Amino acid sequence: MSKYEAVIGLEVHLHLSTKTKAFCGCSTEFGKEANSQTCPVCLGLPGSLPVFNGTALDYAIKVALALNCKVQEYTKFDRKNYFYPDLPKGYQISQYDLPLSLDGFLNIETEGSLKRIGITRVHMEEDAGKLVHENDGSLVDFNRAGVPLLEIVSQPDINSPEEAYQYLSTLKSIIEYLDVSDCDMEKGSLRCDANISLRPLGESKLGVKTELKNMNSFKGVKDALSYEIKRQAQLLESGEILTQETRLWDAKELKTISMRTKEGAKDYRYFPEPDLPPFIITDAKIEEIRKSIPELPHEKASRFVESYGLLEYDAKILVASKKDALFAEECFNAYPGKDKKLIVNWFIGPLMAEANNRNLSISGLNISSAYLIELLGFLSRNEISNLTAKSVLSDMIDTAEAPGKIIKSKNLVQISDGQALKEIMEEVIGENQKSVTDYKSGKENALMFLVGQLMRKSQGKANPKIARELLKERLNA
Ligand SMILES: [Zn+2]
Repeated sequence: MSKYEAVIGLEVHLHLSTKTKAFCGCSTEFGKEANSQTCPVCLGLPGSLPVFNGTALDYAIKVALALNCKVQEYTKFDRKNYFYPDLPKGYQISQYDLPLSLDGFLNIETEGSLKRIGITRVHMEEDAGKLVHENDGSLVDFNRAGVPLLEIVSQPDINSPEEAYQYLSTLKSIIEYLDVSDCDMEKGSLRCDANISLRPLGESKLGVKTELKNMNSFKGVKDALSYEIKRQAQLLESGEILTQETRLWDAKELKTISMRTKEGAKDYRYFPEPDLPPFIITDAKIEEIRKSIPELPHEKASRFVESYGLLEYDAKILVASKKDALFAEECFNAYPGKDKKLIVNWFIGPLMAEANNRNLSISGLNISSAYLIELLGFLSRNEISNLTAKSVLSDMIDTAEAPGKIIKSKNLVQISDGQALKEIMEEVIGENQKSVTDYKSGKENALMFLVGQLMRKSQGKANPKIARELLKERLNA
């Protein structure tokens, strides 16, 4: 795929985590009994009138500002007309020609450098209901109808599936810091559609684009884009003309399937929403919300580098999740001494491994900073080995007990006592004569093997440094 360049734009739909819906007082809580959170407004009954949720506006402005967009002074809602069973009104309240905000950007990390991805617009709209397909028909749940949504549209500045993935991860991280959405793709709180076209390298004219839908994870977006690049390249190679269409990603078959030819904006017959007046957003309002924006991930990473002497690479990993970053900082402050390297290594190493194994975040492991610092204290005083420390960590997560208690009750204190180690060493030597001969004939690796055996025999409690010294001394004698 070197002959073509991929041109990708992403459209992200984000649920705002307001307590009530965008235009009525119904709850937005997820997972309740179907159609239990509805009223005449969100069901589109005749005579009902929408009233706009002020918190949704505040959240929307917050996101727009964090994405460097220009919030518009004058903005209004429009009706986007189409029929679908999950849309009881026959139109969606959205924004068309005067959206909330325009012309922002966010920076993504790509191959070690920063790339700026333009953001065309961030506008407000409402979600539709949800269809549940069963064997003998389809059911509709309107609990989601009217939940406030933001649509975040990127410029077609993205040139690879990997960049798309980076863009989504960066965006999600920023939104999580703002605390305006749970960004949970499984609940549908964050959804992403992609536009993609190919053009010959060096060409500036855009090719025919495909809109991709139905990706349920960031990895799905990446996979769907990779598939589509191959598909389109093959068609272009064979001289076929592409049609502008919408295609669905099939995550089981790992391919895209044509759904319909793409409709244009004119098909929706947009017109201003007559039941909601246009509104003016004052500079004072914008400034007030700007002040409420917390430290964002890239800012936190820079501060971690400056204040705690972290490497830039480590800092970026630590700040990706807001809760993990807060927990890390709590540990930095609680840890005596200036060198925070041990904490960083434990976050990126054993803690992250435990979190991944358990399908949790690091903060979700629910260990306190005090316990973690206590554990690392045992380790840095050489009272337990690294291996033991990892298994104590695992126990701490399972039992919520203090590391000191676990170490004591399981008798895990490291064996640094020469005499005790020598006894184990003699056993190991007796059982592994071949390795002893190998070592003596110059095979250095055999020593590592013997140290390994000694560690095993001591159930990970031997101090590996001392064990190695003793073995070397004994074999060289
Ligand atoms: Zn309602």
